[in-house]
Amino acid sequence: MFELPVYKIMGFFFLIFIQFFGFNPFLSNICFSLCNCPLIFTFRTVQNLMNWVLFSVAVMAPLMAAEPTVVVVGGGLAGLSASLEIITEGGRVILIEGENNTGGNSAKASSGINGAGTDTQEKLGIHDSPELLVKDTLSAGDDENDKVLVKILAEKSVEAVQFLRNVGVDLTDINLCGGHSVPRTHWIPSPKEGRPIPAGFEIMKRLRTRLNELQEKNPESFRLMTQTKMVGIIREEGKVVGVEVLSAKGEQSKVTGDSVILATGGFSADRSNDSLLSEFGKQTLGFPSTNGAFAKGDGVKIARALGAKLVGMERIQIHPTAFVDPKEPAAGTKFLAAEALRGKGALLINSEGKRFGNELGRRDYTTNRILEHAKPIGEDFQGGSAERNAAIMLMNEATIDAFGRPAFNFYAIVKKFFKKYENSEELAKALNVEYSVIKATLDDYKEIFEGKKEDPFGKKAFPVSAISPHEPIYAAIVVPAIHYTMGGLKIDEHARVIDEQEKPIDGLYAAGEVTGGVHGSNRLGGNSLLECVVFGRVAGRSGLQVATNASRSEL
Ligand SMILES: Cc1cc2nc3c(=O)[nH]c(=O)nc-3n(C[C@H](O)[C@H](O)[C@H](O)COP(=O)(O)OP(=O)(O)OC[C@H]3O[C@@H](n4cnc5c(N)ncnc54)[C@H](O)[C@@H]3O)c2cc1C
Repeated sequence: MFELPVYKIMGFFFLIFIQFFGFNPFLSNICFSLCNCPLIFTFRTVQNLMNWVLFSVAVMAPLMAAEPTVVVVGGGLAGLSASLEIITEGGRVILIEGENNTGGNSAKASSGINGAGTDTQEKLGIHDSPELLVKDTLSAGDDENDKVLVKILAEKSVEAVQFLRNVGVDLTDINLCGGHSVPRTHWIPSPKEGRPIPAGFEIMKRLRTRLNELQEKNPESFRLMTQTKMVGIIREEGKVVGVEVLSAKGEQSKVTGDSVILATGGFSADRSNDSLLSEFGKQTLGFPSTNGAFAKGDGVKIARALGAKLVGMERIQIHPTAFVDPKEPAAGTKFLAAEALRGKGALLINSEGKRFGNELGRRDYTTNRILEHAKPIGEDFQGGSAERNAAIMLMNEATIDAFGRPAFNFYAIVKKFFKKYENSEELAKALNVEYSVIKATLDDYKEIFEGKKEDPFGKKAFPVSAISPHEPIYAAIVVPAIHYTMGGLKIDEHARVIDEQEKPIDGLYAAGEVTGGVHGSNRLGGNSLLECVVFGRVAGRSGLQVATNASRSEL
């Protein structure tokens, strides 16, 4: 009864053979175990029947599931979120990245990711909801936003924060960023001492580690091609099936799959010959940028050539506060002065020693206030602002503690953006203004902070502490800089790229800053990382679905 028939031995080798070629090992193994189950052996006729059925399944099912492959372009947060989603759901990813490593602008993010209604907020007594995030997002975007996408963004925000926590990112501290009704920008608690843990860098590191672990378990699941630039999209019979790439050595080749996800980021650093900044935002060209040089809008340009519709391209966000480096005040690329600094109580004054706006207003508001009410700062104060309209950011010990010493020390000691003054009298001298002016500014703010009078600029939230004129004070020069491009490829709720005729382009998906529509005229801080996770995962699932259907239909 228990002797092994020849076909069973052959079946065993056949299963090993098909697994070797990458067919579904799980199903193959189940089939083989069942074929050897003693209970089935006892019923010869049933056994023969079962063997036949199971053998067929072992051959057919793996073939049906044969490696649906998605080509993901761009190794920032949107690209890695899409990749992780695809691999977790059983697909295979080929990730194309133009730089030496993954990270993109996502790795630079410093203020965190929004979540509305998380357990962390609840523990801190913050009452929030997706509806309130929708309201704030639409209000910041002047209602120009794509409402369908905003609803998805807000409703999936708790899930998105959890997605990052699941890969090991500790997002248990919360910031209040400009334009938000309540604190909801989740970031990593700052260590009391030691090295800072910048939010974006940590998020990207943890995601890569998780992808590497999955790759170790199943080497076929993830292939990363760095120093490989997408230069075109391949479409066959109306369907996108891959991309054309250029290696660092200048060799051109094709990378094909069953669908393609574009996650190439925005165009805030695009000063190339066919510059999108020149085409859509000439007035911004004089500003420096906080972005990496790779942010040239390749995904937007290449998909546009294929007929993709663009939305909101004129909407270019100028962040109000980028640090001026005293060693290189005119540099075109600037370090962002994270919104979290103001979220933890930093104040802004102009070169006359006066406040000129609500430090926690919308980004476009604060930028405009600087451009209208803060003149360029001369070289004799901390190197000056290289003729750009500039503000002075002020912090005291309490606000620094709240922001986190290690991160602040990086700005102050390593980069030397901040200079310490023993008190505001010293600051007034350095700035060449009357001490009485700065003292009045700080005394006035203290009264507002304590609720004794209204803020003339409409500030409603007063984080951490007011600054006393008599305590040590830290000052840095900040200027507005191109930071984020709200416009990009139009997508629908499945992250499908939409063409000029309002139809989805078959096989092409997009997520993250390469897309437009979510943020309307002006992005809320913390909503971009959120968008990358939410729509990266949506694109991952959609791209995988199409890839799975494609690999089945190849049978
Ligand atoms: C300094 C700074 C701080 C920020 N802080 C925050 C914050 O705290 N919270 C928040 O929500 N948002 C923040 N943002 C915005 C946010 O970080 C970005 O909008 C977001 O990370 C974009 O992610 P992405 O995946 O779409 O693109 P990116 O992270 O920029 O990744 C795009 C990737 O695509 C690659 N690529 C581009 N073209 C090609 C090509 N042709 N072929 C192959 N690869 C290509 C690039 O090299 C890059 O690695 C910040 C931005 C900056 C610059």
